[in-house]
Amino acid sequence: MESILVLTHTDETGTALSKGSLEVITAGKMLAGSLGTTLTIGIVAADAGAAAGTVAAAGARLLAVGGEAFVQARFASDAAACEALCRAVSATIVLAPAGSRFARVAAAVAYRLGGFIDTHITSISAGDSVKASRCFYRQRIEAVITRDARPWFLLLDAGTHAAFSGASAAVNVERIPVDLPVLRTTVLGLRAPAQGAQTIRPDAQLLFVAGAGWTKKQPDGQVHSVEAGELILGFLRNTSASLGSSKSLVDQGGEGQPVLPFLTHMNQVGQTGSTPRHHKGLSTCCHGEEPHVVGWRFIGERRAISLDPNCGWTRGKADVVYVADAFKVIEKVNAILEGAKI
Ligand SMILES: Cc1cc2nc3c(=O)[nH]c(=O)nc-3n(C[C@H](O)[C@H](O)[C@H](O)COP(=O)(O)OP(=O)(O)OC[C@H]3O[C@@H](n4cnc5c(N)ncnc54)[C@H](O)[C@@H]3O)c2cc1C
Repeated sequence: MESILVLTHTDETGTALSKGSLEVITAGKMLAGSLGTTLTIGIVAADAGAAAGTVAAAGARLLAVGGEAFVQARFASDAAACEALCRAVSATIVLAPAGSRFARVAAAVAYRLGGFIDTHITSISAGDSVKASRCFYRQRIEAVITRDARPWFLLLDAGTHAAFSGASAAVNVERIPVDLPVLRTTVLGLRAPAQGAQTIRPDAQLLFVAGAGWTKKQPDGQVHSVEAGELILGFLRNTSASLGSSKSLVDQGGEGQPVLPFLTHMNQVGQTGSTPRHHKGLSTCCHGEEPHVVGWRFIGERRAISLDPNCGWTRGKADVVYVADAFKVIEKVNAILEGAKI
C-alpha cells in the first residue's frame, strides 16, 4: 500500500500554510481517496500549531518539524526537515508545491532517499497505477508518467489544484526531530528586485516588449538608458500595458551593461521566458529572433518598431512593422496619449 506524504510549509506570516501547500493538500486528498489509503501532511514551520489546525478537515495524519531554523527558506535546514518527514512515515509518494522553497530541495531529498522525482506536475490520478501528467516543449506535448521507483517525488505546479479549505479545529500534531547539519547560511532577510511599478499585467489588452536596442548606442553615439526607462514607464502608465522584455535586455545586468532597473527575468518573453496571452503586442527595439518570437504564439495582433528594415519582425513575424526610431515614436505616442487624457 502506498504511503502518501504531502510536504507543506508556512507562508511569510509563519502561521498559515502557503497557497501552494494548500493546493497540494487538495491533490494529496484526491490521490489518497482514490487509492484508499491514508494521507499524511508534513509541515515545515517555526511553530506548526496554528497552521496545522487549519487543515484539520483534511482528516490527515499531521507531522511537523519546528524551530527557529525553519522560519525562512534555506537549503540545508529545509532539506533536512523534508528528509526527516519522509523517513518518519516511510513515504512512497511525496507531493510538494513547486514554489521556490521546496523546488530547490526536493531533488536532493529524493536523492538522499534513493527515490525519483518528476517536476512541473499538473495532475495526478490513480487506477491500476499512479499516473502523473506534465507538459513538455512549452505546453505543446502532455505526457502521462508512471513509475515503479519509490519513493516517488512529485512537484506540483502552482494553480493546478484548488487550495484546500475547511473548518479549523484542534489537532494532534506529531513532532518530528531533525538532525540539522552545520548551517553555513544565515538568512538576513528578503530583498525584492527594485521595481518602480508592477509591470507584469497578465490581464492587460496590450503587451509592450522592450528589446536590447533601448540601451544600445543610438545614432548620436550615446546610450540613453535613463530616457529609455522614462519613455517605457510613461507608455505603461498611459496604456496599462504589460511589460515584456527580450532575453538580451534582461541579461545585460549580469554583464555590467546599462539596465532598465524595473525589468527582471520575470519580464522575459520567449523560448526560455514566458508565453503570455494578450490581445495585441507592440515590440520595440527588439530584433524579433525566433527564440523570442516563439513566446508571442498566443498574441493576437503583432506590431514592431525597429530601426532595422531586415529584422525578424519584417520577415513575416509581425502584422505591422514601423521602421523607425522607437525613442521618437514612443515619445510622440506618449505625448498623444497624455494629451488625450486632458
Ligand atoms: C537557447 C536560446 C534561448 C533563447 N531564449 C530567448 C527568450 O526566451 N527570449 C528572448 O527574447 N530571447 C531568447 N534568446 C535570445 C534571442 O535569440 C536573441 O538573442 C534576443 O531575443 C535578442 O534580443 P533583442 O532583439 O532585444 O536584442 P538585439 O538582437 O541586440 O536587437 C536590438 C534591436 O534593437 C534595434 N534598435 C536599436 N535602437 C533602436 C531604436 N532607437 N529604435 C528602434 N529599434 C532600435 C536594433 O536595430 C536591433 O534590431 C534565446 C537564445 C537561445 C540560443
